[in-house]
Amino acid sequence: MSDVVDRKALWDITYGLYIVSSVSDTRTNGQIVNSVIQVSAEPPSIALSINKNNLTHRYIEDSGVLAVSVLEEDTPMPFIGLFGFKSGRDVDKMSQVACRNGETGCPIVTDNALSFMEGRVTGSVDCGTHTIFVAEITSSEVLKSGTPLTYAYYQNVKKGTASKNAPTYKGDLKSQETAQEKIVEGTMKKYVCGVCGYIYDPSEGDPEGNIAPGTPFEELPDDWTCPVCGASKDEFAPED
Ligand code: FE
Repeated sequence: MSDVVDRKALWDITYGLYIVSSVSDTRTNGQIVNSVIQVSAEPPSIALSINKNNLTHRYIEDSGVLAVSVLEEDTPMPFIGLFGFKSGRDVDKMSQVACRNGETGCPIVTDNALSFMEGRVTGSVDCGTHTIFVAEITSSEVLKSGTPLTYAYYQNVKKGTASKNAPTYKGDLKSQETAQEKIVEGTMKKYVCGVCGYIYDPSEGDPEGNIAPGTPFEELPDDWTCPVCGASKDEFAPED
């Protein structure tokens, strides 16, 4: 890659946060996707980007159908972790959430969704690590009113991270941090989740998990789990 490409420039692009689901024979799967856009008014069409290694990618190629659920702003982090950091090869994600069968046969996640749309793939573009799928919407519905979850809110307010298969994955964040950013508040150490990269910051605690700011990692309850991916405490290691 040319050294005139500053990847940090790409970090300023704005996104939402969605679940994209699909089906292959009787198997279903879904995953978090941040890159979903409407690309045409007539016929109503959307485009989205999926990592080629993901199970959902294969299912979309197999069936040619997909659904998108637009997540609401207060979607719980464990729910995002289930779809963002766990593989459908290991867990049956759809059995753990509310969903319905779409008219295309595609499963549609309705938990924490403001609205959904399903459609048939009309084209695709090979983009290296990812494929852009274009789909014509065949049905859609607003489930409730509310504020859609943006990627910025997920990162800045909910302290979420990008999975390695996300188009926006920033690589090893630790190596990119400035020395100043690495200064640990007081004597309490930050701990990093070995599964998803979430960083537990004692000065902030885990408000969604009822952990007060100022709680050292060592004093977290034994049954505390990563708010992003659900990993247990023993998956965490002190930040370098
Ligand atoms: Fe995690």
